Amino acid sequence: MIRKTLAAAALALLAAPAFAQYPTKPVTMIVPFSAGGPTDTVARSIGVAMQNVLKQSVIVENVGGAGGTIGVGRAAKASPDGYTILLHHIGMATAPTLYRKLTFDPLKDFEYIGEVTDVPMTMIARGNFPAKDFKEFLAYVKANKSKVSYGNAGLGSASHLCGLLFFSTIQTDVTTVPYKGTGPAMNDLLGGQIDFMCDQTTNTTSQIKSGKVKAYAVTTPKRVPALPNLPTLQEEGLKGFDVGVWHALYAPKGTPKAALDKLNEALVHALKDEGVNKRFAELGTEPVPPEKATPAYLQKHLAAEIAKWGPIIKAAGQYAD
Ligand code: ASP
Repeated sequence: MIRKTLAAAALALLAAPAFAQYPTKPVTMIVPFSAGGPTDTVARSIGVAMQNVLKQSVIVENVGGAGGTIGVGRAAKASPDGYTILLHHIGMATAPTLYRKLTFDPLKDFEYIGEVTDVPMTMIARGNFPAKDFKEFLAYVKANKSKVSYGNAGLGSASHLCGLLFFSTIQTDVTTVPYKGTGPAMNDLLGGQIDFMCDQTTNTTSQIKSGKVKAYAVTTPKRVPALPNLPTLQEEGLKGFDVGVWHALYAPKGTPKAALDKLNEALVHALKDEGVNKRFAELGTEPVPPEKATPAYLQKHLAAEIAKWGPIIKAAGQYAD
């Protein structure tokens, strides 16, 4: 035991001078969903601004599938050298309840860098969906049940979570169509291949504004400034409905503290960046306040979210093998 501790201390000492220069090459940011989707959009926006501090490129790598769990598993097993980080959302907290088997443990396999943004979601449908407001939408979904198709990014994604709660609240089952991200799901919604989805404003705001999709409600308790006319699900009578999608940055367990500190500095810088703030506002979101952009806050919040969602998901009755 003592020998092991001494060896770790010696390694840390050896690593210290090397990490004084960190980073000396590009940093890969894994996004566990397809390119062009909401998480990818957040990643690319902050990645560009983080480069100002890191003085190296941040390269986004999209590893979609299984509601984000494939990409998270890849990040957990990456070399803990500061050159692979992960941007993921609330799915980090829901996967442990949704999946009986996971290749990672969110509370043991990662170092925490900080939170990035809290993104509201919107209930949207194809442009020619036969409902002009939420009441008509609800009536149509309830009347047509499995004839209506709902796109999501797989079990463990935010769009899955929103649907799970929505369908259990309205006590109706529809046909679900899973994708590797809501980027490709949005393409099918625009093409009319699927009927509706619940997706983050970072993917839906511009499509709603251009009138290419119909929007019925916001999933968080407050209206979204970028979409002021859109009522909330709570206003529409779904008591207590509140699904927001918090995003955060992680690194594989064992990543040296010097690298984590630099990554946090880059994150904090990105969240203050004018371009990021403008882009996020256009996308119906905003950077988190500084107190959330810390490893300590993220660690505590993740544990609290795992405990919060476990019983809710179990009550809504869904698991994967
Ligand atoms: N975040 C996913 C994506 O970027 C979508 C989701 O979680 O619903 O595609």
